[in-house]
Amino acid sequence: MKRTMTCIECPKGCTLEIEADGARVISVSGHQCRRGDKYARQETEAPMRTLTTSVLTRGLELKMLPVRTSRPIPKDKLFEAMDAIKRLTVTSPVKAGAVVATDFLGLGVDLVACRPLEKL
Ligand code: SF4
Repeated sequence: MKRTMTCIECPKGCTLEIEADGARVISVSGHQCRRGDKYARQETEAPMRTLTTSVLTRGLELKMLPVRTSRPIPKDKLFEAMDAIKRLTVTSPVKAGAVVATDFLGLGVDLVACRPLEKL
């Protein structure tokens, strides 16, 4: 199976052509550097995403706290992650970068606050 994708690793935006057998990459062409090859293989074999979203709060100055995962997580875990986040509520003041949930979903990444929030 052949597919094309645009490399997003730098502003050049090379068009990558990937030949794959299911999720196993056979060859990559169109890249102008090794980052493009790595990006194509990662996106085909095990795509990852940094999840950015918001968590409900109680007793804090805003009703929602923007959060993100400390590192990218497998793309196929995003829906499970959103379900888990819906069940979270932050009730204590936080600083930007504070860990809201450790080892989120057992993936070895933390969920961290993107901004500070004070009490009401
Ligand atoms: S392949 Fe290399 S040069 Fe091309 S967009 Fe990706 S990072 Fe940039």
